[in-house]
Amino acid sequence: MVLPLPQIDLTQLNNKTVLVRLDLNLVFDGETLVDQTRWDKVVPTIRHIRSANPKRVVLLTHFGRPKKQESCWSTERLLPVIQKDFPETRYVKQYDPNLTESIVLLENTRFNHGEYDNDVTGLDDMILHMDCLIFDAFSVGHRDHASVTGLIDQYPQVYFGPHFIQEQLSIDASLSGETPRVAIIGGAKISTKLPLLNTLIDWADHLIVGGGIANTLLLANGCQMGDSLVESQSLGQAKDILARCADKLILPVDGITNTGACVSFDKATLNADEQILDIGPQSLMRIEQTIQSAKTIIWNGPLGYFERRPFNHGSEQVAKFIAHSNAFSIVGGGDSLSLINQLGLQDQYTYISTSGGAFLSYLAEGSLSVINTWRACHETH
Ligand code: ADP
Ligand code: MG
Repeated sequence: MVLPLPQIDLTQLNNKTVLVRLDLNLVFDGETLVDQTRWDKVVPTIRHIRSANPKRVVLLTHFGRPKKQESCWSTERLLPVIQKDFPETRYVKQYDPNLTESIVLLENTRFNHGEYDNDVTGLDDMILHMDCLIFDAFSVGHRDHASVTGLIDQYPQVYFGPHFIQEQLSIDASLSGETPRVAIIGGAKISTKLPLLNTLIDWADHLIVGGGIANTLLLANGCQMGDSLVESQSLGQAKDILARCADKLILPVDGITNTGACVSFDKATLNADEQILDIGPQSLMRIEQTIQSAKTIIWNGPLGYFERRPFNHGSEQVAKFIAHSNAFSIVGGGDSLSLINQLGLQDQYTYISTSGGAFLSYLAEGSLSVINTWRACHETH
């Protein structure tokens, strides 16, 4: 039997030094903080831990993707956000067990040599020897990094935090959701997302595609796509998907070009410099009907170049169709989320995952590296 992941046991934390791995990769535009959702999601985790009167809570996070120690990626920049909720927090470049503060924010774990290669010898030895580890960073759970699977491997006592568990249970709930099930996959990360279609096709009754994914499948289907966003090295994979799931796949039948023209894919061929930047009205009608009949919906990736008008239309319509449906709906992916936020539809989805790549990994594999590592270390004992 597969054991459930261990959740925080408050009785074990009293007077302990607790290492907490979070995702505090907050979004800045220059000096200005523009999105602190990731922090807001884990404030309850820290409050929960502190209710057990631990000796100290030590926060560890990555921030950006620095190649070396660049001051713009120092976690010191995050301190004011954290101090608004926990004024007693102290930022340190290096951990010192003699500190008196009850909350300590460590420097960016991606400043450590070996972080990206899962080499824990680059981590401060003291970080490896606290009393227990609480892992509450679902969004990096698919990465084999030193502060992710590396730490899980090292720690005898591991708990998964409430936000991690909530993400996992919500995605699990969608994967076992009622039929008819509809998956909608768009966006630009074509090579990452094509393998996901292979899994979702077994899950879904209808698989709607848009964006660069649809363009690549249409190209594989023999349509001339001009200068549209496609990934020609994924054409073989795209052809396999078409062969496997033609009956469930809902490909766009029309699209909007960069000049604003609406073209029907069965008739038109695009000029070499034309691009398909949005799905067309006929496709939207079919998508609306499919969404209305769904009981469970999984969505990832905008269906067009939504950052620029009028190519936002298709993605916005789909965001609204889902919001207005009575289905269990889950959405993940940075750009999909920013679209939903712009439209103010956040509360009309059953669950919004903040986990991007990990959301896709978990959908595709039903697990994450960090979970597999924990199981390998602990389930046999
Ligand atoms: P998410 O972050 O939700 O997982 P992705 O990062 O995969 O989504 O893709 C989002 C990006 O895809 C957006 O920048 C959007 O403009 C782009 N995109 C979607 N469809 C098209 C298209 N037809 N042509 C060009 N770009 C597109
Ligand atoms: Mg994105």
